[in-house]
Amino acid sequence: MSNTHSKVLIIGSGPAGYTAAIYAARANLNPTLVTGTEPGGQLMITTEVENYPGFADVIQGPWLMEQMRAQAEHVGTHMVSDYIQDVDFSSRPYKATGDSGTVYTGDTIVIATGAKARWLGLDSEYEYRGKGVSACATCDGFFFRGKEVAIVGGGNTAVEEALFLTNFCSKVTLIHRRDTLRAEKILQDRLFDNDKMEFIWDTTVEQVIGNEQGMTGLRLKNVKTGEETTLEAEGFFVAIGHDPATDLFKGKLEMDELNYIITKPDSTETSIPGVYAAGDVTDHTYRQAVTAAGMGCMAALEADRFLAVQETLQPSTEAAE
Ligand code: FAD
Ligand code: NAP
Repeated sequence: MSNTHSKVLIIGSGPAGYTAAIYAARANLNPTLVTGTEPGGQLMITTEVENYPGFADVIQGPWLMEQMRAQAEHVGTHMVSDYIQDVDFSSRPYKATGDSGTVYTGDTIVIATGAKARWLGLDSEYEYRGKGVSACATCDGFFFRGKEVAIVGGGNTAVEEALFLTNFCSKVTLIHRRDTLRAEKILQDRLFDNDKMEFIWDTTVEQVIGNEQGMTGLRLKNVKTGEETTLEAEGFFVAIGHDPATDLFKGKLEMDELNYIITKPDSTETSIPGVYAAGDVTDHTYRQAVTAAGMGCMAALEADRFLAVQETLQPSTEAAE
């Protein structure tokens, strides 16, 4: 079992983590960044990104994340492939233990663990996962070329993924529990203009049905009339949002009722001094790459200031020698 110490330990490799790393490295804080099992974070599973400033032409999400990673490495970030499974914030330096057995200690910590896809929670959804059921159209859409599929959700993700699926599938039916979408208007317009799209409003998915070969359809229920119907579909994409990846921090940091980490106003500081949270892990309002990156910047700057104050109060032995 090895031990790695850094002044700034960053957990997570999405836009928030990489940006914190760029700023911390450029402040000579020699950060260590633990990537987790999804290096690059959520934008690795999307295609076109049109709203990240600085790119006049449309860019691809995975390309953007590769660039952020390369930038963080070029300025001196120590990048580690590991998954943090336990943290101890009871005393400084704070500790984080990886799946590899390595114990990472940090004088400060930046939590940038982001969010994960939410599932409906149906047994049948779990049963047919990988046999027609997916939470990532950009990853799995290709496998449904020429087939009829369904998607559930009414946010930006559902609409973008539905549009993406129309590139491959013969028909895409969007099922939503209300009769209005919450997605941006420009995306809604594109969706409603698409000939391959069909819509089922005010309806929930009750069950995924199928056989040994895979799913064949969905049992649906109209929430207003209670009527139950069956929709034939060979694929089903769940796009109902995300939950913050905060299980690890339960009971160790203050969180809100949706399990997002609470930070101080105009700050990324959590309930523990020197521990910062940036990006989707603390933000259920904006949840954008650019806001996550902005918070990553804030976290690194705040960590730098915190360390400077600590150094004044208690000069390190290194400085004293
Ligand atoms: P994430 O990107 O979620 O990254 C979290 C990181 O934490 C991952 O690297 C993961 O491996 C790591 N991690 C988690 N747990 C651990 C652990 N225990 N130990 C170590 N590491 C851990 N936003 C836009 O601005 N424009 C778009 O066009 C856009 N398109 C999107 C398309 C889709 C399909 C989705 C799902 C989202 C999209 N978003 C878009 C939103 C955007 O991707 C997120 O807001 C952004 O990625 C959040 O960044 P983050 O750094 O907070 O976390
Ligand atoms: P979201 O905005 O939270 O939308 C989730 C959708 O799923 C909502 O329509 C919700 O219905 C529905 N839903 C939730 N739970 C459900 C359940 N149990 N059963 C049925 N339906 C359910 O999530 P998102 O679309 O993943 O977007 C997350 C964030 O990423 C947003 O801030 C979004 O702007 C951002 N994002 C941005 C882009 C972009 O800028 N191009 C692309 C993708 C995502 P209700 O509407 O009834 O609540």
